[in-house]
Amino acid sequence: MALYGIETESIRAFDALLESGRTVTVTAHTHPDGDALGSVSALVAYLRERRGKDAAAVLPDSPAATVRFIVPDSVPLLCHDTDPEACLARIAASDLVILLDANGFSRTEGLQEAFEASPAPKALIDHHVGPDTDRFRVAFSTPDVSSASELLYYVLLELPDIGGDARRLPADAARALLTGMTTDTNNFANSVYPGTFRMAAELLAAGVDRDAVLADLYNRYRENRVRVMGYLQYEKLRITPEGLAFIVATRDILERFDVDEGETEGLVNIPLSIDRVKMSILLKEEKDHFRVSIRSKKGFSARACAMAHFHGGGHENASGGKLWWPADIPGPEAADAYLEQVSRACLS
Ligand code: 5GP
Ligand code: MN
Repeated sequence: MALYGIETESIRAFDALLESGRTVTVTAHTHPDGDALGSVSALVAYLRERRGKDAAAVLPDSPAATVRFIVPDSVPLLCHDTDPEACLARIAASDLVILLDANGFSRTEGLQEAFEASPAPKALIDHHVGPDTDRFRVAFSTPDVSSASELLYYVLLELPDIGGDARRLPADAARALLTGMTTDTNNFANSVYPGTFRMAAELLAAGVDRDAVLADLYNRYRENRVRVMGYLQYEKLRITPEGLAFIVATRDILERFDVDEGETEGLVNIPLSIDRVKMSILLKEEKDHFRVSIRSKKGFSARACAMAHFHGGGHENASGGKLWWPADIPGPEAADAYLEQVSRACLS
C-alpha cells in the first residue's frame, strides 16, 4: 500500500487535473485553523510558482489575527465574510476547485452553494472521516495522517515536477506545510506518524526555519490571551464525577478580556493534563449559540460526543460543533446543566 493510500493512479489523475486547470480556487473549512491555512497556502504557492496557474485561496471567513501570518503575501486570498461578491465571482470563473482540510463542501458554510453549483472539476485532500467523495474527480483522504498539510506534502512529492525532492517546493509552500502540520499536531504532541517526522526532517533540510515558525505560532500573542486563559482555568473550569472537564466562556468574559477570534486556541487541551479528566469541552458564546471544542484521551471519543450532542464531528480525539438556543437549550445559562448531562451520556 502506498504511503497514506496515495495511489499512482490518483497522482496521475491529479496531475492531469492541475495541468488542465487555468483558474484554480483552493478552499478549506470555516474558521480556518493553522492546518487549513497552511495547506491552502502551500498548494496555491505551488500552483502559482511551479505551474504558472492563476491560483487563489477563497475561504468562508477571514483568518484570525493569530494565524493570518501563515498566508504569505504571494498567495492571493479572498474571504466570504469581507468580500462576498468577489468570492462568488471567483468561484464562478474557476475551472478547477480544490478542497483541503474538510470532508465536504458543507464545511465551507456560506460558500457551499456556490461550490456545489460550480461545474468545474473538483479535487479533495483531507484527513477527516466520511469524505463526500462523490463530488470529487480525485480524492486523497485518510484519517490516519497528522494533518491535511502532511497529506498534501506527500501528494506534492509524488508529482513529476517535485519528484520526491522537498527542495523543489517553493519556499513559501515548504514553510506553510511545516506550519500547518505543527498546529494540527499541537507541536508534535498528537496524531504523529513516522511520515510526520520524515516530512519535518525533509522540510528542515530544505531550509525551512522551524525556530521562526514556532516563534510566529507561539510567541506573538497579545497579553490578554494569557490573562483570559488563566482566568478561565482558575475561575471557570468544572470537572464532573465522570471525568468531563468543561469551561463555559460567556460573552461577558470574552468582552471583558477583549478576546479576539483565535485567542483561546489551545485552552481546551489543558484540562486533559489532569489525571482523572477523560474529555475536555470548551464552549464559547456567540450570538445565538456556543461554539464547541472537544478533546479526549485515547479510548474516549470526542467525535462521537460532538456528533451525538453538538451537531458536529471531526477527529476521534479532537472535534467540534455547536450548541444552539432555544433549539438545544433554553438559553446560555443552561449550558452547565447540559454539559453535566453530556458527561453522563458520553463517559459513564
Ligand atoms: P476546534 O476545536 O479546533 O475548533 O476543532 C477541532 C476539530 O473539530 C476541527 O479540526 C474539525 O475537524 C472539527 N470541527 C470543529 N467544528 C466543527 C463543526 O461545527 N462541525 C464538524 N463536522 N466538525 C467540526
Ligand atoms: Mn486539519
